[in-house]
Amino acid sequence: MPSLLEELKEIEVAARSQLAEARDDAALEEWRIAYLGRRGRLTLVLRALASLPLEERRKVGAEANRLKEALGAALAQRQAQLEEARLTAVMERGRLDVTLPGRPRAQGRLHPVTQTLRDVLHCFESMGFQVVEGPEVEWDRYNFEALRIPRDHPARDMWATLWVDYEKDGERSMLLRTHTSPNQVRYMEGHQPPIRIVVPGRVYRFEATDPIHDWMHTQVEGLAVDEGISMADLKGTLAEFVRRIFGADRKMFFHCDYFPFTEPSMGLLIDCVVCNGEGRLRDGQGCSTCKETGWIEVLGSGMVHPEILANVGYDAERYTGFAWGMGIERIAMLRYGVEDVRLFYQNDLRLLEQF
Ligand SMILES: [Zn+2]
Repeated sequence: MPSLLEELKEIEVAARSQLAEARDDAALEEWRIAYLGRRGRLTLVLRALASLPLEERRKVGAEANRLKEALGAALAQRQAQLEEARLTAVMERGRLDVTLPGRPRAQGRLHPVTQTLRDVLHCFESMGFQVVEGPEVEWDRYNFEALRIPRDHPARDMWATLWVDYEKDGERSMLLRTHTSPNQVRYMEGHQPPIRIVVPGRVYRFEATDPIHDWMHTQVEGLAVDEGISMADLKGTLAEFVRRIFGADRKMFFHCDYFPFTEPSMGLLIDCVVCNGEGRLRDGQGCSTCKETGWIEVLGSGMVHPEILANVGYDAERYTGFAWGMGIERIAMLRYGVEDVRLFYQNDLRLLEQF
């Protein structure tokens, strides 16, 4: 029968080689139970010491205790090794190079028409105008009748209309508003002067599209009504608008125009932003933006027709007012040099990313 010392040697060799094979926590635990557990091989040797003679018990006891400590240390070391290997594997899998450049995040921004609309509204707000909105589906009465455009009026041809399939008293009476002007009447019906409002919104025309016309566009309408308002107030307000939106160097002039709801009516022109009023480009070619005239029309305006003031119950002898309407896409085209209004609504990032 081999001596206990020999058995201890054998235990050490077997334990160390088996420990080196252990690959995970479960194997380590199995190993611990096999050698150091309550019924482990080394534990059994330690228990057997009691039956040995004193001299031998000392020798074998010292060796057994050394081995117990050594195996405990070996277990801890193997545990640490496995843990490190595990971490290395995790790092390899999710390798992170902090020196790589970051991924750029796509950043949204406002559509050029929205930017222009906001700038225009801000300009008038700072002059004391209040922003008011109204419905896009409108009654004939507000869109036409109350603005001095009865059914048989030839001026209806100025606004090719998209009608809603709805009849009242045998006649079509509901439509997609062709301008934001109905809100002049709506607002005046509910308020007393002084009035200073700007009305932004989409308007719709039953029209074929071309580079300067679309079937839908954004308009901003303005209205001021008070005692003693004159054409000078209109010109001063719009001159300030031109200065803020197109810069201080632009020349402007008013020419006579016709709208059923204003009298007198005027168009506002500024010198062409592309050819600087020359009518020709630098290379001698004619400027297509202003059709070689050097001037471009920016908006329509005029003094509110007294009949409209009277229709909403105002004293037309006492109050006067001015109004204007402009297409925001047109302002944006002039501002950014965009040549086709339809580009704004094609959602093409190649265009939109430039603003
Ligand atoms: Zn021009």
